Amino acid sequence: MTKHTTRMLIIGSGPAGLSAAIYGARAGMEPIVVQGLQPGGQLTITTDVENYPGFRDVIQGPWLMQEMQAQAEHVGTRMMWDMIVDVDLSGPKFTATGDGGDIYEGDTLVIATGAQAKWLGVPGEQELGGKGVSACATCDGFFYRGKKVAVIGGGNTAVEEALYLTNHSEDVTLIHRRDSLRAEKILQERLFAHPRITVLWNKAVEEFEAGADGTLGSLRLADTLTGEESSFATQGAFVAIGHAPSTELFKGKLDMDESGYLLVEPGTPKTKIPGVFACGDVMDHVYRQAVTAAGTGCMAALDAERYLAEKEFAEKAREAAE
Ligand code: FAD
Ligand code: NAP
Repeated sequence: MTKHTTRMLIIGSGPAGLSAAIYGARAGMEPIVVQGLQPGGQLTITTDVENYPGFRDVIQGPWLMQEMQAQAEHVGTRMMWDMIVDVDLSGPKFTATGDGGDIYEGDTLVIATGAQAKWLGVPGEQELGGKGVSACATCDGFFYRGKKVAVIGGGNTAVEEALYLTNHSEDVTLIHRRDSLRAEKILQERLFAHPRITVLWNKAVEEFEAGADGTLGSLRLADTLTGEESSFATQGAFVAIGHAPSTELFKGKLDMDESGYLLVEPGTPKTKIPGVFACGDVMDHVYRQAVTAAGTGCMAALDAERYLAEKEFAEKAREAAE
């Protein structure tokens, strides 16, 4: 068991955590970033990114995150390969325990644990995971070369996954429970114009069914308006119905909304505990973009630095008065 101490402990290495690290390091806080199971965060499971400012041409998500990490390290961040399994926010220092027993202690704590893919929770989904059912087209799409595939969902992720899958499959069906998408208009236009993509409206997946070879063979669908049941033959199904915030660690310790997103003082990354900040998707159920995550990561680092400066100034003033 090793103890690691820092003025700014950051949990999470997506755009929020790494932006906090860049600002924190440049403010002399010598941050530690504990990376978790997905170093680089959600953008490492996508390909094209064309809305992160600063790049005229399309860039790749994994490349962007490698560059962010390199920048954070270049200015003095220590990156740790560990997964936090417990936190103690009672203060005055904040501690986090890694799954191998290492202890991370910060004078301030920045929570940037982001979000994870949601599952439908219907029969067959987990059993056929890796055997036709996936939550990441960019990770697994290659395995469905020349096969018929379906994507479930109606947001940006689902539409992007469907578009991406046309690189591998000539027969892609987007299955959505309503009759309109919530994805951005530009993505919708690309989807509707694509000759390899069909949209099935008003359909809910009730079960993932195995074929004769034990891998996914079909989806049992229910019409959300009429209740009528049907079977949809497919060899691959990509669940793209959104994400849930990774906040299990903070239950009972920090305030959350009904979906589990951390609550912060409006317009700031401040949680109810002075010195503990939350940034990125873990506290933002509205925007959930790399650039907004990076922005709130920056805010968390600036506020952490101010918090410590004020605290240390007050301590010195008290000592001088005694
Ligand atoms: P995340 O990126 O979710 O990172 C969370 C981090 O926390 C990870 O490093 C994880 O390992 C770590 N972590 C979690 N729990 C623990 C723990 N217990 N201990 C230690 N570490 C932990 N946005 C755009 O702006 N443009 C796009 O083109 C775009 N495309 C997307 C495509 C897909 C498929 C997806 C899923 C999202 C996309 N987004 C896009 C959204 C964008 O990826 C997110 O808004 C952004 O990554 C959020 O950043 P974050 O740092 O808050 O969290
Ligand atoms: P999202 O916007 O929350 O959309 C989730 C979709 O899944 C919705 O269409 C929803 O249906 C559907 N859904 C949810 N639960 C379902 C269930 N149980 N059964 C069937 N369908 C269900 O999630 P997202 O698409 O993952 O996007 C998350 C965030 O990342 C968004 O802010 C998005 O803008 C961002 N993102 C951005 C980009 C980009 O900028 N290029 C790319 C990907 C993601 P309803 O519509 O009926 O609610």
